[in-house]
Amino acid sequence: MSRRLVVALSGGVGGAKLALGLSRVLPADELLVVANTGDDFEHLGLSISPDIDTLTYVLAEIDNPATGWGRRDETWSFMDSIGALGGEDWFRLGDRDLALHVERTRRLRLGQTLSEVTSDICRRLGIGARLVPMSDDRVRTRVRGDAGWIDFQDYFVRRQCRPVVHELAFDGVMRARPQDDILAALRSGDVRAVVICPSNPFISIEPILAIPGMREAIKASGAPVVAISPIIGGKAVKGPIAKMMRELGHEASAAGVAARYGDLLDGYVVDHADADRVGTVGARVTIARTLMTSLHDRETLARVTLDAADALASLQ
Ligand code: GDP
Repeated sequence: MSRRLVVALSGGVGGAKLALGLSRVLPADELLVVANTGDDFEHLGLSISPDIDTLTYVLAEIDNPATGWGRRDETWSFMDSIGALGGEDWFRLGDRDLALHVERTRRLRLGQTLSEVTSDICRRLGIGARLVPMSDDRVRTRVRGDAGWIDFQDYFVRRQCRPVVHELAFDGVMRARPQDDILAALRSGDVRAVVICPSNPFISIEPILAIPGMREAIKASGAPVVAISPIIGGKAVKGPIAKMMRELGHEASAAGVAARYGDLLDGYVVDHADADRVGTVGARVTIARTLMTSLHDRETLARVTLDAADALASLQ
């Protein structure tokens, strides 16, 4: 019998677009979405998991399509009020969004794991696919700029990615264990594909892959690993990826992203705009439209990715 499970590694905005496509073309019990939690932080006394939040809202189809993060039909009374009191308003938390953080924080304080909280919230919001954090252990991405080490959200949101990045670190990662469902899936012998979503490799995917045992478990799963380039036509669709790649001494290109994943990749999906520049990336290249504007784009790219994985599996 053919293998069924698709394990998708994802950050926030770019990753969630493809995760939604996958969730719409696969039966719910065939998709496991693994979220980066290196961006997680504590703010205003709340436990915030930005990539889990984005994935949750996108998969529940209650996301804000204009921003790519947060909820749609959002109101901002809390933000306006806290700003007027002289409080911290640099990280935007809408009124509806706030409810998720308050509830997550309450449950974590009661001793539930991030996996348990995420799974129950997904169920309540009607999400069929499984969404899990990369680990239930604490990992925190830090950024070394000219003025030394700063927390990730300080770099990403407060300073809007302006500091030059010299180095990244994932604090706590060496003590972290992959979340249980991920290991169970990868060891099941039933994995059809491991999909690396079009997310920022440095800050969304590498924290996941840096967890001891994760890369090995992916390799040992025997499933083809297929990534989708987050760079189109040599440019980021959104976010600091191109700037970050240059600052860290890498070529800001689709080929540069593939080089970061190295021998983990079996397949690589790149845009038509990069077809001539991708060169030899050490993986089987599929050329497709990779810009996801509509829901149809998301579903089509999901199908293209699965077809690429199935073609690789048939060669093995
Ligand atoms: P973050 O955690 O919110 O930064 O989100 P991700 O790391 O998952 O996604 C950011 C990346 O998604 C950026 O590098 C973008 O270039 C990429 N991205 C956003 N939208 C698209 C899209 O429609 N297609 C592709 N191929 N990449 C995209």
